[in-house]
Amino acid sequence: MSDLNAHVVIIGAGHAGGTLAALLRQYGHTGPISMIGDEPIPPYQRPPLSKAWLKGEADADSLALKPLEFYADENIDFRPNVKAVKLERAARKVKLSDGSELTYDFLVLATGARAIALPIPGADLQGVMFLRTAADAEALKTTVGPGKRLAVVGGGYIGLEVAASGRALGAEVVVLERESRLLARVANEVLSEFFRSYHAKHGVTFELGASVTGFEGEGGKITGVKLADGRVIACDAAVVGVGAHPNDELASESGLETARGVVVDLEARTSDPHVFAIGDVAHRPMPIYGRMFRMESVPNALEQAKQAACAITGRPAPTGEVPWQWSDQYDLKLQIAGYAFDVDEIVVRGDPASGKFAVFHLNGDQVQSVEAINAPPEFMMGRQLIGNRKAVNKAKLADPAVSMKEVTA
Ligand code: FAD
Repeated sequence: MSDLNAHVVIIGAGHAGGTLAALLRQYGHTGPISMIGDEPIPPYQRPPLSKAWLKGEADADSLALKPLEFYADENIDFRPNVKAVKLERAARKVKLSDGSELTYDFLVLATGARAIALPIPGADLQGVMFLRTAADAEALKTTVGPGKRLAVVGGGYIGLEVAASGRALGAEVVVLERESRLLARVANEVLSEFFRSYHAKHGVTFELGASVTGFEGEGGKITGVKLADGRVIACDAAVVGVGAHPNDELASESGLETARGVVVDLEARTSDPHVFAIGDVAHRPMPIYGRMFRMESVPNALEQAKQAACAITGRPAPTGEVPWQWSDQYDLKLQIAGYAFDVDEIVVRGDPASGKFAVFHLNGDQVQSVEAINAPPEFMMGRQLIGNRKAVNKAKLADPAVSMKEVTA
């Protein structure tokens, strides 16, 4: 089912929604496109918010996916500062926070995810911050600076990027992590220890195995973070980076299937043929691993925007991609391909002490995922191995003297 004259309504003007709107026009969609976003600005990139932009190395304009004029020029009805509040699928109608409503032929949920808040005392104090939107980043940037004490709650990738940027801005930074190691949910011990020691060398301090039980304040402003062992870590600001929750309520309340995100197929279509879901909000199939998963990454947002654009405009479904993402901290470029599902062995290629190495996660002799630090060939060839499911020679893989070209031959 496709129709180049159909009215497409996109809910969420983020990376996935903005990309989809542009792709639809690129693929010859002539019908009306409406894009509803609850933020005040057109779609922008979030990755720099914890990296170059936070450090002052990129300006606000460089964040935008497209300049504002693009949407008018392409006849895309972009409505900022408006939230979709109710989806009525039987009538193919969506109600908006300004009291208006839109009918659609195809609706695309591109509502992303929101930062998880900690339900603990003091969470509403001024200076307890999150980092999801440009507005959050602006608030953080005005707070962090030389001599300021920044507490980062959560030692995941976003927390560590904020820590590195905080140091670059001259702040004192402490990372508070509930688990006994950093990146516990997403990486293995080799990487956890590498990042801990690299950050420590740059002056970041750590409290691992530290459960945060509250925030303390004076005059409505944060003064410290309280730990379960009774200690209070003094700070001027705290950034809470403990994960994100999909904005899937429009879908679940309208009876669409959700499972840690809106369930879709490889065309990004939900169980309702008129409704799609893309980006961070979608729970999607990952054929390489034979399972469903919700991803939070720009490449995933782009891939699913393409899937939906192809389905809506009647193009063949695009070929599947090997998922990947990245993280920048100090002079380190971490590139990750795949996910470490069903792993029974880990091969480390190169010496972590050199700052250039890769960790391969294997199931039997198949590469499931690779984390490459300052090692682009390992990332690229690793990604290829994940995609083609070729058996790998582990001895060669572990030996940096053997080129990746030979390993993959
Ligand atoms: P979003 O970009 O979040 O857009 C969703 C939009 O929908 C938002 O504007 C939201 O406010 C809006 N919305 C929600 N509900 C409604 C509603 N009811 N009505 C109207 N609008 C609504 N990924 C990487 O691959 N590499 C990185 O290095 C990386 N770094 C990151 C750093 C930070 C600080 C953050 C926050 C994310 C980072 N990501 C990174 C993740 C990446 O930015 C996301 O995966 C990507 O933005 C997902 O795009 P999306 O369109 O699904 O969601």
